[in-house]
Amino acid sequence: MSAGNTGVCWIDGAIVPASEARVGVRDHGLLYGDGIFEGIRVRAGRVFRLGDHLARFAAGARAIGLTLPHPLEQIHAIVLATVRANGSREAYVRLLATRGEGPLGVDPLPCGPPRLLCLADTIALYAEEKRRLGIDLVTASLRRPPADVLDPRVKSLNYLNNVLAKLEARQRGADEALLLNTAGHVAEAAVANLFVVRGGELATPPGTDGALEGITRATVLDLAAALGIPARERSLGRFDLFASEECFLTGSGAGLVAVRSLDGRAIGGGGPGPIFGKLVAAFADACVALGTPVAGLA
Ligand code: PMP
Repeated sequence: MSAGNTGVCWIDGAIVPASEARVGVRDHGLLYGDGIFEGIRVRAGRVFRLGDHLARFAAGARAIGLTLPHPLEQIHAIVLATVRANGSREAYVRLLATRGEGPLGVDPLPCGPPRLLCLADTIALYAEEKRRLGIDLVTASLRRPPADVLDPRVKSLNYLNNVLAKLEARQRGADEALLLNTAGHVAEAAVANLFVVRGGELATPPGTDGALEGITRATVLDLAAALGIPARERSLGRFDLFASEECFLTGSGAGLVAVRSLDGRAIGGGGPGPIFGKLVAAFADACVALGTPVAGLA
């Protein structure tokens, strides 16, 4: 599959076709994965929960001791300008900050200035048929690193754990990986949070079990409260998935997608369930209500 020739990128103060945007080979984002990112969804010409994404971006920057090269208000404007230049009402934004260029060697202190990139393009994580029927998960053989190794709550450019879990899942004929933490509790999928429904109650693992504090996840928890569906964060094992009535994933790229099997065994009814259906409908409304309209697109 080719990389395609779509999308635009904000780089060094200009918006150019994504295929023309370049970073130097001495950028420590490339050399060491030294940086942070956000994946932000644009639906119906509105940027979903942009303020919350920027807050997480800023928190991640602080967590790795990186000073963002622009104030948040300016980054806000950069995201909107990039989405507008991309011209699509349905898009995906990848906002990145790297440590910038520096000499070889892992030391971040001689690097800089930090580099900001904002890419707006399309994303399609799962085929339409999978969205209709549900996806197949396998339990990855590698574990999500604990917070005292590399805190998964930092959305850093170190995604090799996620990449290798996804590779394993695809090579084993599944769509997505289920990652456990080193204690054997469910963390999340490769790049999406996980929910189960048991006894009519929604549950999702806490961030301290190795889950990113996902913005789609937070939205689903809010929507559940509004719909009167009991929901809470709690530690889960594979048992909870096998015993669940429903299971689904959430993410900016993934959207809300039902899980129909784990390790070859059907989950719940083997497809999207009724609570999932209610949340999907409510989420569509939330995308409008919680989206920042982009001039000319919304
Ligand atoms: N977990 C990981 C590891 C992710 O990369 C993502 C995607 N950002 C998510 C969960 C989902 O988070 P969000 O809903 O904020 O996109």
